[in-house]
Amino acid sequence: MEFGYAGKAAVINLDDQSIEHLQIEDSFKQKFIGGRGFIAKWLLDLVPIKTDALSPENVLIFATGALTGTLAATSARMSVGAKAPETGIWSIGNVGGFMGAYLKKAGWDALIIKGRAETPTWLSVDDGEIKFHNASRLWGMDTYALDRAIKKNDPSKRMSIACIGTAGENLSHLATIMVDRVRSAGRGGLGAVMGSKNLKAIAVNGSQSVPIYDPTKFMAACAGYQKRSIQLYFRKRWESGSYGAVTRYNTAGALSTRNAQDTAFEGIDGISAETYNSRFKIERMKACFACTIPCWTTFYIGSGDYKDFVGQNMNATTFKEFGARCGLSDMDQLLHACALSNRLGIDTISAPATIAFAMECYQRGILTEKDTDGLKLEWGNGPAINVLIRKMAYREGIGDVLSLGVVESAKRFGPGSEKFALHVKRMETVATDPRGQPSWGLGYATSSRGACHMRAYSNFEYKGMTDAEMMRIAGTTEIQERFAHKGKGKAVAYLENLRCVGDAMGLCHFLTRAELGFQEAYLPMYQSATGIEITPEELYAAGERIYNIERVASLREGLTPADDTLPARYLEEPATGGDAKGKTCPLEPMLKEYYQARNWDPVSGYPSHEKAVELEITDLIPN
Ligand code: SF4
Repeated sequence: MEFGYAGKAAVINLDDQSIEHLQIEDSFKQKFIGGRGFIAKWLLDLVPIKTDALSPENVLIFATGALTGTLAATSARMSVGAKAPETGIWSIGNVGGFMGAYLKKAGWDALIIKGRAETPTWLSVDDGEIKFHNASRLWGMDTYALDRAIKKNDPSKRMSIACIGTAGENLSHLATIMVDRVRSAGRGGLGAVMGSKNLKAIAVNGSQSVPIYDPTKFMAACAGYQKRSIQLYFRKRWESGSYGAVTRYNTAGALSTRNAQDTAFEGIDGISAETYNSRFKIERMKACFACTIPCWTTFYIGSGDYKDFVGQNMNATTFKEFGARCGLSDMDQLLHACALSNRLGIDTISAPATIAFAMECYQRGILTEKDTDGLKLEWGNGPAINVLIRKMAYREGIGDVLSLGVVESAKRFGPGSEKFALHVKRMETVATDPRGQPSWGLGYATSSRGACHMRAYSNFEYKGMTDAEMMRIAGTTEIQERFAHKGKGKAVAYLENLRCVGDAMGLCHFLTRAELGFQEAYLPMYQSATGIEITPEELYAAGERIYNIERVASLREGLTPADDTLPARYLEEPATGGDAKGKTCPLEPMLKEYYQARNWDPVSGYPSHEKAVELEITDLIPN
């Protein structure tokens, strides 16, 4: 009998509509834990080096965490991964909502999707039964319409749906996979990978409960974790989700404004939590499966171009990206841009980052109205931003180029534009500016999928950790000094490993920060749920193993240590506003310490032989 895990994955071949069952052994679980760990190992085994990300040979994997679908707080999370078309390396994202929980409750730890369907297809997972369906009539629908259309077929079933929108159908490199309409996974273009497979949607209904090895101990462990989560985070999330932090980034000089030409935004009041809560938020916060710290909100636009528009799910990132980064302080336009992106299935980080890049090219005369289909790409032009999102998803006019992200756009826009293309490893940076928050800069530079803020997701620079926690991860409390660098390399490496453990468990990053993210916090829940005995050291090592596998996979695709860097703007142009005014990001000393902490060879970028032996991955290291 399986506990905690379902014990099996479905290997779904779209070429011939066949399905195989893959048993997941205990030794595999112990070594890779679940979710992101399972995906890393399977991608390594199944996707040959240099595979075209949009070819049938790429493999798209949805994998639940070890605790997903249980009573553990925030155990909604599921990882989604494949080789990404935008970056040419793996992208393993993470998503909440209900699908992960339902998939586990349907009796599956993972869906491993291979090949390409001949015609548009959708999949239903109804407990143990997986079926292929014709999706010709659904092709072309936005994510909301699709969700409604599939659920209408069988309203008696409690279903969660992952799907692509127009952007994924049109193979935009910025296309994501949308879950429950507004939850998004797959930066780097995993929506395009799903589109390339002619797979429009996956609908999951799971009616079973997840068997628990020792229910009494598990309930006690979950109760302790839940109580602490509520004490630490409930109030903050309930009042203003994650978007409450936007004003703090601005004061810190960490809010990239107008494509990071500035680091504080004079229009901050227009995109603040106060403005949103008082004028737009209409319902109390909602939550993903088993979440104790709800953070989804519903908004209503009462006037203007988008009068009577209703949407959902605002977070800090959207406010920063469509707001400050694009110079937009009009919340009506911003909210519509966010909701439109969700409907069309386009990334709400990379799309606005690419629009901001185009706006800077326009500002500098590299682009004119002749190039932009007549659009005046002036900072803060909300209607133009909304038109561009649609053009990118449909790949019309200038949107056809922009839909490939900043690196490919810069190639088309010509010499001089590339220095305004802010990316790491071809993935657009986030609007939390590294000059105001240097550890995030290091996190972008070392992230295993390009400039992703969630890989390290450090919080020690704004009092998110106790002295004891800082000593533990860095051996110094100096890491809380924002503009110092000592200890930050070590701390970021540690946190990257911890985030792997959290993702593999299936818990939310909004919870697994500071004390609730350390390996000991998960252990009582993991052991009592699964019956697997594992030490905290082994759990942490599993996280480190996952990160190192992702690292090696990138190197095998041709990346080198030279790619662990940041755009020159953050390193050379001083911050213009906020507390960081005059500062640049001190990447070099942090990076040097990071490599030492990781025990990676600074020339080849590979883990040392000693580290590979420790993590049992010597087969991945060149001789
Ligand atoms: S904190 Fe927010 S995103 Fe995370 S599980 Fe809870 S509701 Fe979902």
